[in-house]
Amino acid sequence: MTTEAADARPPRRISLRRQAFLRLAGVTVLMAVGILLVGLNSFHTRQGREIAQKQAVTTAHYADLLPKVDTDWQEYAQRTRIRIELLRILETDGDARWAKLHSYLTAQGEFNDFPDLMILDAQEQVLFRYGNEAASIANPAPLRAAGWYVAPASNELYRVLATPLWLGKSGQGTLLLLRRLDNATLGDLAIPEVRLLLHVDGRTLAASRPGLAVFGDGRGFRSGLVSDVAPPVIQDSLPWPGQSGAPLLVIQREFIDSYPLPEFLMRPALAIVLVLALILLGLGTWLRRTVRRIESVTAAIEEYRRHGAPALAEQVMAPAHGAGDEVHDVGDALLSLMQSVDARDREQRAYLETLAMLEEAVLELDCDGVIQRASPGWQRLSRRDDAAVGRPLAEFLHPEDVGVLEALYLAFIRGEKEQGQARLRLSGGGAGQDQWVEARFVVRREADGSIGGSRGVLRDVTQTYLHEQQISHMALHDALTDLPNRVLLEDRIKVALLMARRSRNAVGICFIDLDHFKNVNDSLGHKAGDRLLVAFARRVRGLMRSGDTLARWGGDEFVLLLPELTSATDVREVLDKITEAFRAPVKQEDTEFVITFSIGVALFPGDADDVETLLSQADRALFYAKAQGRNQACLFGDIAAKSGGRKELYLQQKLADAVRNERIEAWFQPLIDARSGRCVGAEVLARWHDSEYGWVSPATFIPMAENLGVIRDLGRQIWLQALTAGQAWRAQGHHLRLAVNVSKRQLFSPYIAEQLLGELALHGMTPADVVLEITESVALLDAANTAEHLFALDRLGFRIAVDDFGTGYSSLSQLHELPADELKIDISFVRRINEPSGLSMVQAIIQLAGALNLETVAEGVEDAVTAARLIELGVDYLQGYHYAPPMSRHHFEEWMGAQARS
Ligand code: C2E
Ligand code: CA
Ligand code: CA
Repeated sequence: MTTEAADARPPRRISLRRQAFLRLAGVTVLMAVGILLVGLNSFHTRQGREIAQKQAVTTAHYADLLPKVDTDWQEYAQRTRIRIELLRILETDGDARWAKLHSYLTAQGEFNDFPDLMILDAQEQVLFRYGNEAASIANPAPLRAAGWYVAPASNELYRVLATPLWLGKSGQGTLLLLRRLDNATLGDLAIPEVRLLLHVDGRTLAASRPGLAVFGDGRGFRSGLVSDVAPPVIQDSLPWPGQSGAPLLVIQREFIDSYPLPEFLMRPALAIVLVLALILLGLGTWLRRTVRRIESVTAAIEEYRRHGAPALAEQVMAPAHGAGDEVHDVGDALLSLMQSVDARDREQRAYLETLAMLEEAVLELDCDGVIQRASPGWQRLSRRDDAAVGRPLAEFLHPEDVGVLEALYLAFIRGEKEQGQARLRLSGGGAGQDQWVEARFVVRREADGSIGGSRGVLRDVTQTYLHEQQISHMALHDALTDLPNRVLLEDRIKVALLMARRSRNAVGICFIDLDHFKNVNDSLGHKAGDRLLVAFARRVRGLMRSGDTLARWGGDEFVLLLPELTSATDVREVLDKITEAFRAPVKQEDTEFVITFSIGVALFPGDADDVETLLSQADRALFYAKAQGRNQACLFGDIAAKSGGRKELYLQQKLADAVRNERIEAWFQPLIDARSGRCVGAEVLARWHDSEYGWVSPATFIPMAENLGVIRDLGRQIWLQALTAGQAWRAQGHHLRLAVNVSKRQLFSPYIAEQLLGELALHGMTPADVVLEITESVALLDAANTAEHLFALDRLGFRIAVDDFGTGYSSLSQLHELPADELKIDISFVRRINEPSGLSMVQAIIQLAGALNLETVAEGVEDAVTAARLIELGVDYLQGYHYAPPMSRHHFEEWMGAQARS
C-alpha cells in the first residue's frame, strides 16, 4: 500500500452528538474552574486586605496607648515623689524617718500599683526598701539602668521608674518605683477580640488571658495571620516604649472573617450555574437540534442506500428542513441528487428490460474478445445455460469462423475499422444443425480514447440463411430432379471450356430428349411423367464420371456435359453405356416402362468454341436425331457432314415466312387480381400454327426467331395486335393491363422505347397500361447492360416485371439495382406449393418482394387449392389454367363476356 493510501485512512469516528457533548462539557468545566479561580483570587485579595487593615489598626492602637500608659506611670512616680517631699519626713535625720515613711506608705491604699519602692542616696546606696520584691533586690543599679526588672523567684516583670528625690540633709537621692506588669495589667490594656502578651528574652511573662502563647516559627516570631489555630489570629508585636531592652508587647487579634470563603464562593458558584443554564438553554438546545438535523440527513442517505426510494428518504430528512440554512440546502441538494440518480436508475432499468425483450443478443467484449457483459438474449441465442461472462466469444464459435472474428478484431485494433459485420456460426448449441448469427460489432472506446473492446449485436439468421441456401440451391437446380438447371449448366460448361482449352482436351455436350414423353404425360398424368423423369435422371447419373454434369434443360430435355474428353470415341463410349443401361425397363409402381431417347451431341473445339453455339449445335443434332426416327444419337459433326441439319433449316424457313406474312397470332391469358378475383389484365403470348408441324411452341420458335433475326418483326406484330385489342376493349369499358414478353434481343434493339411509345400513343394508351416482362436470367445475369435499357423504359413509365423469378437467380442484391415493379413467381415454385419446402420458398419470395416493394404475380395456377394458398400468402396477381388458358382474341372476349355475366 502506498503512503498516500495509508494517509487517507479515515479519522477515528466520533459522532457529532458526542463531539458536541464533549465540547460543551469541556467549555463548562473550564469556565467553572476559571470562575472559581477568579473567585478564590479575589477572596484572598480581599481577605489579605482585611487582615492588613485590622493588624494596622490594632497595632496603631497600642502604639498610641503604650506611651500614654508609660507616661501615666511616670507622672504617678513624680506625684509620689512630690508627696514624699511634701511630707518632709526625710528632711529629718535619723532612722526614724524610714519608719515614718513606711507607715505613711502602708497607709496609702492607692499604692497598690507600685507595691515596691527603693530610695537611694547620691552614692547609689539603698537607704530604704518597701515591698517584698524591693526587699530582695541587693543591687538596684542594673535595674535602674534597664528600666525593667524580672523578679528571679516569681518571674514577675516590673517597670522600674526612677526619679530624683530630695533627702534633706543627705542631699539629692533617687526614688526607684517598681510597677508590676502582670496578667491583670495586660487584661486591663486588652480591648475586645485582642489578646496581649509580654515577651522578654523568648519568654512570655504575662498574658491578658491565661493559657496564651506566642506563635512563632523556626526563625522566631510570626507576624500576620496565624490560621492554624482556632479561631485564627492576626499577630503583631510592639516594643514597650522607652529603653532598648524593653519587653515586647505581642498583640494577637482574633480574626473572624467578615466574609467567609463558602459565602464568598456562593456568587461565583451561582454565576457558574447561571452561565451553565444559559449555555445549555441557548447553545445546547440549538446544538442538539442542529445535530439531530444533520443526523437526519445521514439517516436519509442510509435509508436511500437501503431502499433506493427518494420519497422515503425525504420523509426521514424532514428535520433537516426545519430551518432555512446550510443544512437545509445540503438536504435539498442531496434530495435532488437522489432523485436524479433514481431517475437514471429507472431509465437504465427500462433500457435493460428492453434489452431483455430483444431477440438479439447484445454483448460487450474486451480487447481480447472476452465477454464482459451479455444481455438475456444471449442465452436464448446461444441455447446454452452456462455463464458466458469471462469466456472468450471464440469459445462459442464454430472453429472455422474464429478466424473471421479475429480478422475483424485485428482491423479494429489497427484502427482500420470502427465497426464491422460478420456472419458466424455458433457451436455446441445442440440441435445438430449449425446456428448462424449475424454479428455487428462496434469499437468501444474508453474515456481517454483508447480501445476498450467492442460492443456487438448478434441476431439469429439461421432461418434466413437456410432460406438463402435453399433459394440459391433451387435457383441453380431443377425442382423436380434436383439436377443442375440451365444456369448452373452454362456456368459449368464455361468452366469446362476454360479447362479444356488449357489441357487441349475435348468437351462433349449432349442434348437428350425422351421419345414420346408427351404420351406418358397425357395418358398417365403429370405425376407419373414426373416420376419417370426422376427415374431417368437417377439412372443416367449412376453412369457418370465424377466430373460430368447432367442438367435438366426443361420438360423432357436433359443436357449431359462431358468435360476432359480425349477424343470423339470417348463420347461414343459414354453414349453406348447409357443406351445399354436403358435396355432394361424402368419400374414405376407395377408398370414397366422402356425408355428410349434421342441424343444430339456437339463437341468442343471441333463443332464450336463458345457455350451458346455449342448448345445450339447440339440442339440441331438432337433435332436431326429425332427427325431420323428417334431413339438414336447424332453427333453434330456427322449431320453437318451429311445434310447440314436440313429439317431445322426447313422449320426456320417456315417461321421466317410466317413472320413475313404476319401469321404469328397474339393470344391472351387473363391476369386475376388476388383481392377482388377480377380479371385486371392479360399476358400476351405468341402463337404459331404451321400447316405441317401444327402448333409450334413459342419455347421453340422464339429462340429460333431470335437466331434468324426476325424477333423484332415478330414482337412488333404481337405488340400491335395486343394494342389493337386493348384499344377495342377500352372502348367497351375494359381497362386491361397488357403484359408483353420482351426477349433479350428485343430489349437490346435501339429505339425500342421511342417505338413503343409512339405506337402506344396511336392507340390512345400510356406506358402505365403496359407491363414489360423480362425473364430473370436476362434481367439479372447481364444486369449491368440490361439495367440501362430498363431504366430508360422505367423513366418513360412502363411497368417492368421480372419473369420466371427463382429460376435464373444469381444474386438477390442485384434485384435492388433494377427498376422492377413486379416479380412473376416461376411456375416450378407454384407447382410445389403443397410441399413444405416449396411453401417456404414461395413465402420467402413474397417476403423478399414485400421488402423490395414489388408486386407479385404467381403463374401456372392450375387448381383452387393452390390459388387459395397463394392468396393467403399475399400474392397480388394470379395467372393459370385454373382461371383460363391463353386464348385467341375472339375466345378471350367471349370469356370476358361470360365473366361479366356471372
Ligand atoms: P412465359 O412468359 O413464362 O409464359 C407463360 C407460359 O406458361 C406460357 O407458355 C403459358 O401458356 C404457360 N401457362 C399459363 N398458365 C399455365 C398453367 O396453368 N399451367 C401450365 N403448365 N402452363 C401455363 P407458352 O405460351 O408456351 O410460352 C412459352 C414462353 O415463350 C413464354 O413463357 C415466353 O417466355 C415465350 N413467349 C411467348 N410469347 C412470347 C412473345 O410474344 N414474345 C417473346 N419474346 N416471348 C414469348
Ligand atoms: Ca411471360
Ligand atoms: Ca413465366
